[in-house]
Order: sequence, then structure tokens, then C-alpha cells
Amino acid sequence: MDLLFRLSNRILSVPVRLSAAAFGVPTVRLPVVETDKQLYLTFDDGPTETHTAEILRILGSFRATATFFVTTSRLAAFRELAIEAKAGGHDVASHGHTHQDPWFQSSRKAIDDFNRSVDVLTEMGLQPAWYRAPYGHFRPAHLRAAQERGVRLAGWSVMPGDFRSTATAARVFNTIQTAARPGGIVVLHDNESVAARRVTLDGLRTVLDYYSAAGWVLTALPHS
Ligand SMILES: [Zn+2]
Repeated sequence: MDLLFRLSNRILSVPVRLSAAAFGVPTVRLPVVETDKQLYLTFDDGPTETHTAEILRILGSFRATATFFVTTSRLAAFRELAIEAKAGGHDVASHGHTHQDPWFQSSRKAIDDFNRSVDVLTEMGLQPAWYRAPYGHFRPAHLRAAQERGVRLAGWSVMPGDFRSTATAARVFNTIQTAARPGGIVVLHDNESVAARRVTLDGLRTVLDYYSAAGWVLTALPHS
């Protein structure tokens, strides 16, 4: 009883999208939580020319860390940003090599894309601990491929929709504040579309302001 109670407090089930579950990908479980005031911050799609650096600067000013799910084909142009992120205490993870939707590829192509992204990161000395499929569109074959490469599959529990054309910084903040629970995984974006606006940056600053003042810790996903 005691063990079960302790486990239930330490391990939070993070909902993967129904679509992923329907494809047989099991729910991701994270060993949460050093404090019960903890959120995991993640950014998908980058790096981007100036947006990534601004995100890093904002995170740094609040001593927060995040996991950057990078599209590894972009690293040819923005390699130093990934290295800078890692050196700054953040984590760099795989979001695939090309960001093609795995549900619109053969299983073999999807896994090739996954493996290529892991290769690119590993060759840079950034062996990833996590993989998030583009659009969260995991395929069952990802499970085995990820196990073979020592990579875990990451979903999310809070998507504030910063990529939507109607998004505002206030709405990003409100969604996180309403939906986030201790151990929740927040996904924001680092791509040209959001970089053209200030929504993600302004929303991030508001979120960090609020949660820091309330004594919460915002960090990258754990490695164990
Ligand atoms: Zn993406």
C-alpha cells in the first residue's frame, strides 16, 4: 500500500494523444517529481536563426531549462545553436530529420528519418534521450526503433497552440495556467511561423514570470 502510494505520487502518467495510443504506442511515464511545483518545458521544430537565441536568453534570465526537439536537417545551418543550448544546461532531443508526417510515410521511411536524426545528433556529441514524432504522429515501429537507440518517446500534456495564427501571448499563458498540473509537459514552438510573431516569446516570458514568482521550477525533461 505504502509502495503504491509512493509510486503514484512519484510517477505521473503523461497523456499521449489519443491518436498515438490508437496506434499502439504506450503512454509515456515520467519519474516525476522532485518538487510538486514542476513543469517540463519543450520546444519543437527548431533551431531557427534568431528565435532560438531569444528563447535561450529568456530561459536563462529565469534560470529555467527546456528540451529542444530539433529538426535535425536544420542543424546544417544552425548547428551552433544546438550546441549553445546544450552548453547552457538545456537538452537537445530529436523531432525527426525532415519533419515529414510519419503517418504519410511508409513505416520504413519514418524509421529511417528517426534513425537519421539520432545519427546527426550523436555525431555532434548530442546523443538524444528523447524523440517526439512530428505532429505527435508516432507509429508502432517507433517503439522498437527507439528502444534500439536508447531513446524514449515523448508526448505532451499541455499544448497552448502558439503556432496558430489566432494565438496571443495572453492565450498561451492562460492555457498553460489552466491546464498545467505538476509534472506536466508543455509544448511550444520554435519555427519560422511563430518566429514572425512575438507570441511564443512574450507568452514564455509571462509564463516564467508567473511560475517563478509562485515557486515553480520549469525544466527540461529528465534523462532517467
Ligand atoms: Zn513539429
